[in-house]
Amino acid sequence: MLNAAYDCENIFAKIIRGEMPAVKIYEDDKILSFMDVFPQSDGHALVIHKTAQAVNLLDVEQGALSELTTAVQNIAGAIKTGLNPDGFRVVQFNGAPAGQTVFHLHFHIIPIYEGKSLGRHGDGAPADTDALEAMAAKIRAAL
Ligand code: AMP
Repeated sequence: MLNAAYDCENIFAKIIRGEMPAVKIYEDDKILSFMDVFPQSDGHALVIHKTAQAVNLLDVEQGALSELTTAVQNIAGAIKTGLNPDGFRVVQFNGAPAGQTVFHLHFHIIPIYEGKSLGRHGDGAPADTDALEAMAAKIRAAL
């Protein structure tokens, strides 16, 4: 499963091509960050590379990985400023048995609020788009 070929029809590839909607936080020619539609907490964001066609962490060229991790740090900082969480997790799943459900390399940034339990990974109802957009606006304002 860690040797799976990259499938250009995965959901995140469609979001990159504009074929599926996403509530975007940040975009340039290499990086896209957007709100997770099944958030585990308020402000749960995803960060992906737009041109590196990597399924998982082992596939990605190190220059692209560096661009990704730099973006993760920048978005996490904006989440801290914009949403004032008490902490955050950076999570990244490799292979379906490990919990990966979308086979385009991505990093989760999951804000933690003291006293508030996290939703389960890949569970629950999709979030309201207007609510996601309101949070994304706060994060974007802090970038
Ligand atoms: P993983 O399970 O690590 O592969 O993460 C995939 C993540 O993508 C999950 O947290 C899903 O909630 C999220 N997700 C799936 N489809 C979409 C979508 N169309 N827009 C935004 N997030 C999505």
